[in-house]
Amino acid sequence: MTDSPRPTLLDWSNRKVDYLRISITDRCNERCAYCMPHDLKDWQEREEILTYEELLRVVRIAVGLGFRKFRVTGGEPLVRKDADRFIEWLGATPGVESLGLSTNATLLAPLADRLRAAGVRSVNISLDTLDPETYNRLTRGQLETCLGGIDAAVAAGFPQVKLNAVLMRGVNDHELGNLARFAHERGAILRFIELMPVTTTEVLSRENFLSAEEARILLGGELGLTPHEERLGHGPAVYFRTGLGSIVGFIGAMSDLHFCDLCNKIRLTPDGKIRPCLGNHLEFDLKAVLRAGEDDQAVEAVFRSALGLKPREHDFREQYKPGRHMTAIGG
Ligand code: SAM
Ligand code: SF4
Repeated sequence: MTDSPRPTLLDWSNRKVDYLRISITDRCNERCAYCMPHDLKDWQEREEILTYEELLRVVRIAVGLGFRKFRVTGGEPLVRKDADRFIEWLGATPGVESLGLSTNATLLAPLADRLRAAGVRSVNISLDTLDPETYNRLTRGQLETCLGGIDAAVAAGFPQVKLNAVLMRGVNDHELGNLARFAHERGAILRFIELMPVTTTEVLSRENFLSAEEARILLGGELGLTPHEERLGHGPAVYFRTGLGSIVGFIGAMSDLHFCDLCNKIRLTPDGKIRPCLGNHLEFDLKAVLRAGEDDQAVEAVFRSALGLKPREHDFREQYKPGRHMTAIGG
């Protein structure tokens, strides 16, 4: 960690960008219906995936440019061999001020204490339902395993545990209150996310879409909600306090017309592309530069090009057709 003054990185529209999401694998041990097709077979080849050494070099250069906040994601990051060791190295990298992990929690239990000790501050866990059958239908996994991981995360004492539920009409719209109670009992922040067109599966139909506003009305009717003015990090969620006293957030990626105004992040895909916006196909090939043996300035130049063309807003409302699945890009 360092206290020296750090550069501020702005994109072309003057948004401060200091957050890099690093996807370390496109593979996953679950098959969430909204994230990838159940029978997906076109995995990225191992040699196409950036090595941990390459990733750590990129992080060191990103820190020098002004990035402060990093999140490891996937696919399911914990399926990659030695993901815990990589996260330890990342946590020990000077200038990494905030370290997060996004996971489905199914492999988290035995690693939670170690990851906490490695400096992981914030763990985001997917949990769309508390019904074992629905969970299995949606993810092809076992709810029990996920819940074990959530309990381990809570017991490990990460400063922030967030549960992410993708909103789906007719699937989990009757569970919003139960999910909020579950999160409250564990001191976790629950966030409801609007379904985004990031893969090609049938679940992404208009009929399945449930807006953040409708969810707010449903949950407000059940538990009571009052606006929570304080921002929690720089994310795009709008937060409320429930009648239970807990905090819930709503991520209106599709319906909130100001969703992109404060966007502070870019993504690094497992195969080494910088993707400035999830909802735009534009990508910049960092791996080619890394593997051509170029110096750090050349790597910095790729970051600067990506920021110079970071879309002002996503294209999800513009008949967007997903190119790569969410798992190939990184959640
Ligand atoms: N495997 C980890 C997990 O499940 O948290 C990390 C990767 S996952 C792609 C990251 C986040 O993306 C999860 O919270 C998941 O719910 C969200 N996600 C995936 N597909 C989505 C979709 N179509 N719409 C909205 N959120 C989605
Ligand atoms: Fe895997 Fe996460 Fe996608 Fe589910 S949301 S399929 S757990 S990467």
